[in-house]
Amino acid sequence: MDIDPLRAVLSRRPLGLFSDIDGTLSPIVERPEDAAVTPRSRSLLESLIREGVRVALITGRPLATAQAMVGIDNAAYAANHGLEFWINGMSKFKADGGDYYALLEQVGDAVDELESMGITMERKGQGVAFHYRQASDEVAARARIEGAIRRAPAAKDFQWIEGRKVIELRPDIEASKGTATRELASQLEVQGLVCLGDDRTDVAMFEAAHALARRGVRAQSVAVLSPEIHPDVLVAADYAVEGVQGVEWLLAEILKAVGATSR
Ligand SMILES: [Mg+2]
Repeated sequence: MDIDPLRAVLSRRPLGLFSDIDGTLSPIVERPEDAAVTPRSRSLLESLIREGVRVALITGRPLATAQAMVGIDNAAYAANHGLEFWINGMSKFKADGGDYYALLEQVGDAVDELESMGITMERKGQGVAFHYRQASDEVAARARIEGAIRRAPAAKDFQWIEGRKVIELRPDIEASKGTATRELASQLEVQGLVCLGDDRTDVAMFEAAHALARRGVRAQSVAVLSPEIHPDVLVAADYAVEGVQGVEWLLAEILKAVGATSR
């Protein structure tokens, strides 16, 4: 493996590195609350920031969770699929949409039953996510979640998103990892950009990064391979690495390349 295909991007300044968290910087685990960014990834991201790279984390997690998982204060964050931002030490929200409290109340009745099947419900800013990775029967679990959502009248005002063993309802407003990527690229004024992600929601980030070429930004997208990867992720990516360890290797190579050109 070599990073030659990325070198043209890495020579740009300011350089941005935008990364997903789960499955990219932190291994996928049975219980989402146990997921943790690897110490090596964290230390490499901190070194990249010291070299002037503008690091941003783009995630479906709520902002507070993302910040706790990554633990780097001087990085930028776009959390909750582009609904919450943290840029230059300031937090910012997108306008809200959908009656979140009615939704919680209506799906809340089904939660005990869902939990008994090994499904966990995560409250996320203005939406909810149902994780069924721990369910003994994933097909039945997914059907049960779908039933609970269909019975909740408030759910119709929310967008339905599916990821790796997760169904999520989020406010039906224009926000995604794609809008987050555009917003961060503009705020951080990057001229070169490397994006990393492993899941379907990251495709919007990859596509937004490529569209920045119209503004003269050179960007490349990196897929993080796993046995669960969706083909859309591979189609949208320019480059691929093998799992979270492959990301650690790539971050170290980027650090070498960036350090060499700044000397
Ligand atoms: Mg991910």
